[in-house]
Amino acid sequence: MATAVACSSGPETSTAPPAQPAASETTRKYLLERVDDAAVVQIYADQFTALPLREKVLIWHLYQAAIAGRDIFYDQKHRSALEMRRVLEAIITHSSGVEPATLSEIQRYTKLFWVNNGQYNNLTARKFLLKLTPQALAAAAQAAAKAGATFPVQSGESLDALLARLQSMFFDPNVDPIVTNKTPGPGRDILTASANNLYSGVALADFRGFTERYGLNSRLVKQRGRLVEEVYRIDGRYGREIARIVGHLEAAVPHATAPMAAALRALVQWYRTGEDADRAKYDIAWVQDKDSPVDTINGFIEVYMDPRGIKGSWEALVFYVNREKTERIRKFADNAQWFEDRMPYDARYRKPDVKGIVANAIDVLIETGDSGPVTPVGINLPNDQRIREEYGSKSVSLSNVTEANDKALPPAMRSEFSWTPEETDRATRFASFSGELHTDMHEVIGHASGRQAEGFTGTPQGVIKEHFSALEEGRADLIALYFLADPKLVELGIVSAADHDAIVRAEYEAYTRNAIVQLRRVREGTQIEEDHMRNRQMIVHWLMANTKAIERRQRDGKTYYVMVDPKAFREGVGRLLVDVQRIKSEGDAAAAAKLFDTHGIHFDPTLRDEVVRRVDALDLPSYTGFVMPKLTPVTDATGTITDVTISYPMDLTRQMLEFAESSK
Ligand SMILES: [Zn+2]
Repeated sequence: MATAVACSSGPETSTAPPAQPAASETTRKYLLERVDDAAVVQIYADQFTALPLREKVLIWHLYQAAIAGRDIFYDQKHRSALEMRRVLEAIITHSSGVEPATLSEIQRYTKLFWVNNGQYNNLTARKFLLKLTPQALAAAAQAAAKAGATFPVQSGESLDALLARLQSMFFDPNVDPIVTNKTPGPGRDILTASANNLYSGVALADFRGFTERYGLNSRLVKQRGRLVEEVYRIDGRYGREIARIVGHLEAAVPHATAPMAAALRALVQWYRTGEDADRAKYDIAWVQDKDSPVDTINGFIEVYMDPRGIKGSWEALVFYVNREKTERIRKFADNAQWFEDRMPYDARYRKPDVKGIVANAIDVLIETGDSGPVTPVGINLPNDQRIREEYGSKSVSLSNVTEANDKALPPAMRSEFSWTPEETDRATRFASFSGELHTDMHEVIGHASGRQAEGFTGTPQGVIKEHFSALEEGRADLIALYFLADPKLVELGIVSAADHDAIVRAEYEAYTRNAIVQLRRVREGTQIEEDHMRNRQMIVHWLMANTKAIERRQRDGKTYYVMVDPKAFREGVGRLLVDVQRIKSEGDAAAAAKLFDTHGIHFDPTLRDEVVRRVDALDLPSYTGFVMPKLTPVTDATGTITDVTISYPMDLTRQMLEFAESSK
C-alpha cells in the first residue's frame, strides 16, 4: 500500500529536517517550476556522500535497474504512451526550426506528460490535451526531422502517417478519456471504460470460465474469442526491459548484505519465471530483510491502476535508511510501554505488553514507474495479506520527499491563516519538526496502544463500522498531541528543553489552523467524507466546544482559529482521549456516531467558500512531480568503480531526457 498523504499529517504539517538545519539546507532551491497546477520540486539525499563505497556501488546498480524498467509503466498506462513520448522528445531535442509559440506549448504538454507518466492526470485520471492544431504539431515534427530527429515510425510508415495514427490521443477529448474508471455508469464495463493497457479487448463478461494464472503480472488480451495472458517476464511481455533490470540486479548482488542478496536473487527468479510462487518467495525474502541500510522496491506492485484491483503497475524505488530519523522512531518504540502506562484513559484499556510499530525513515535516491515523479510519502509492503500475517510487513516513510514537499510550500500558506506574526514565525521555525514528531508518535505509540474491554467480542471495526477509521485516526492523533507536551521527550533527547514549549505551541497552533485550511479540499457540498479530515475536524471542534483553548476570531472579513492556551488544549485532549478510547474499547457505536455527527462531518459552506477564495489567491499547486538526484560512477583505469558522486539536476527536462536516453 502506498500513502499519498502521510497517515496523520497533511501537507500543512508534513515532515522536514531537524529543528536546526544546516545553512545550505535553508537556502537551497526546492521549487524549480510550475506547470499548470503541478509543482516541480528537487529532492535531496544529503547522507549519500557519507555512505561506505560498497553501499554507494550497490545503490548505483539498483539506480540503473530503476531506470531500465521505467518505460514499462508508460506502456501499461496506455498502448500509445511511449510512442507519444518519443514524438514529443524528438521535437524538444531538435527544436531549432520549430515555431516558438508551438514549441512552448509542446514543452508545457511534455512536462505534464513526464510528471504523470503519460497523458492522464494523476489526481483525476482524465486525459489532458495538447493545445495546438494537428497541423501545427505536424509542422513542428517536420522541422525536427529536418534537424535530424528520428521518430518512432513503424516499418514503411511515414512521419505524417504516424502523427495521423496518434492524432486522437493528442487532440480528441472523447477518445480514451479516462485511464481507470471504476464507476463508468449503468450498463458500462469497468475494463472497456478504462483506457489503460493492462487489458486489450477484454470486458468483465469474458472472465466466465477463465482461470487467471498470472493475476499480478500479465496483460490480458482477447484473441479469437478467448483470453490470453501475456506474462511480464524475461522471455515474455517487456522481456527487453526486464532483461536489463535483471542484469543490473545481478550486478548489485555482490555488494548487498546477505539477506538483501537473497531478496535480490528471489526477485531475479520471479522476473525469469513470472510464476506467482516465485513472487511469494520474493515477498518473503524482502520482508525478512529488516536491517539492511540500503533497500529497493522493484517490480509489479501496486494495483490502483487496474479497475479490478488485480494487475500490478511496475515501479522502482532505491533508498537508504535515514539513521537519525529512524533512531528517533526507535526511541518512541523502545519506550512504548512507558507511554502506555501513562495513557490518560482507564487503566483497564491499557496494554500490559505494548510493542511500538517500527517504521524506517528513508531517503529516496530514485523513484520511477508508478512511484515517480509523483511519489507516495509512505509505503507499507508486501500487499499479499497471507504473507503479511505470517512474516510481517515493512513500513517506510519517505523523509526527503516530505522535506522537499514542505520546503516548496509557499510561505504565504502559513501566514494567511495565522493570527499574529509570532504564530507565523513559530510555524516557520518549528511546525515542520513538530509535525514530524506528531507523525512518529501517531504511528508508533498511537495506533499501537490500547486494548478492548474485557468480554468484548468481535472487532471494533465490525461494531463501529463507518466511524471506526476516523475514530482510530483521532485516537492516534490525540495520543500524539497529548504526549508532545510531556517532559519525557526532553529526557529522551528528542527535543531540547529550551525549544520544547515553542514546539508544543507551534504544533497545537498548526493542528488548529488545519481545521479550516483543510476545508479547501472539499469544494462541493457541506459534508466531509475523508476519515483523516473528519478526525481533525472532530478534535478541533470538540476542543472549541468544551475548552477555552481555541477562539474563533474575525479580522478584515477573514476567519481565524486561534489557539490561545496550550495548557487548556492539552487538558482537553486528555479528556477527549479518555472518551475516544472508551468508545473504541467498548465498541460504543452510538457514541462514535454522535461524536462525529456533532463535531466532525458537517461544516459551514460560507466558511469553506471563504477559505477556498483565500487559498486560490495564493495559487497553490494541486500536486508535485519530483526531480531525482543524479548519480555518476567514478572508475579507475581497470573500469572498477572507485566512487559514486551525487548531484542535483534542478531541471525536469534534462533529467527526463537523460532517463529516456539511457533506456533506449
Ligand atoms: Zn493513522
